[in-house]
Amino acid sequence: MTRIVVLAGGVGGARFLRGVREEARRRFPDGSGGTTAAIAAIVNTGDDAWLAGLRITPDLDSIMYTLAGVNDEQRGWGRLGESERVSAELREYGVGWPWFTLGDLDLGTHIARTSWLRDGLRLSAAVERLTRRWDLGGVRLLPATDDEVETHVRVRDGDVDRELHFQEWWTRYRAALPARAFVQRGVEAAQPAPGVLDAIASADAILLAPSNPVVSIGTVLGIPGLRQAVTGASAPIVGVSPIIGGAVVRGMADACLAAIGVETSAAAVAEHYGRRGRGGLLDGWLVDDRDAESMAAVAASEIAVSSLPLLMRDADTSAAIAAAALDLAGVHR
Ligand code: GDP
Ligand code: CA
Repeated sequence: MTRIVVLAGGVGGARFLRGVREEARRRFPDGSGGTTAAIAAIVNTGDDAWLAGLRITPDLDSIMYTLAGVNDEQRGWGRLGESERVSAELREYGVGWPWFTLGDLDLGTHIARTSWLRDGLRLSAAVERLTRRWDLGGVRLLPATDDEVETHVRVRDGDVDRELHFQEWWTRYRAALPARAFVQRGVEAAQPAPGVLDAIASADAILLAPSNPVVSIGTVLGIPGLRQAVTGASAPIVGVSPIIGGAVVRGMADACLAAIGVETSAAAVAEHYGRRGRGGLLDGWLVDDRDAESMAAVAASEIAVSSLPLLMRDADTSAAIAAAALDLAGVHR
């Protein structure tokens, strides 16, 4: 059985995983529309927060809803056919974050999750229970960690430094307050969630989704032991550039790159991840056709590189990207 591990954030992660699942069905069909390949997603939990008494896990939910086919494709997040009656009531009470809307259907997920967490389940077990309801086509969702490690952003506000939750910086301030640093609060004592290290160790390919390199992939790799497990695995590691034509797609991830001094280019992100065996991660890197001029720099670092259109419009375009990533990882039928 072919085992594919994907490190992922929310929207970029979800779209890419849909492509990996589609390509796995084509490349490793099980004869009844599914795949014999095992796909495990190791998902960022740095955006998680306690809100209105509920534990919210945005990236895990984006992936779950997208793979289940119940996401709002147009809006880019949350459930299709969502309403916001409960959020309106909470706002009247002054509960929660007025700039962060929780849809009614989405709240059902948060209540179920929180109820299991209060029963003593770990996050990974709660995720397993949530995903039992949906047909994710065999993709297994693993939170990077069960421990509460939340990303905070150190910003300069007037002439004082302060820290705010990543969600507040991203959603309320639209990443417009210049970030000085990202802090993973509580990371020292955190451990990879059950199943994470095993999935990495037994993988045939480890793929980095075209997710935010700093606050999605970087946060996953920041969990103690995780980066080491990835670089020490026998599987090739191939990343997909989240930068197309020198710009981020759908979002403000360039603000995160700027904060850590990385230029918004496909080559700079590859260099940031680095060559495996030389302090970095990558064996291979996919860039968009429009960034073909960056290939020489990537190849000069001895990272295998190929180019193709990287905009994930639908399952087919995402599957083509997954196919190129698996090819570069040497995982064939
Ligand atoms: P978030 O958690 O919802 O912010 O999502 P991720 O961290 O998974 O992904 C955000 C990143 O995905 C951004 O840096 C975007 O540039 C990238 N991205 C979004 N859509 C696409 C796409 O269609 N193609 C590629 N290559 N990158 C994308
Ligand atoms: Ca996210």
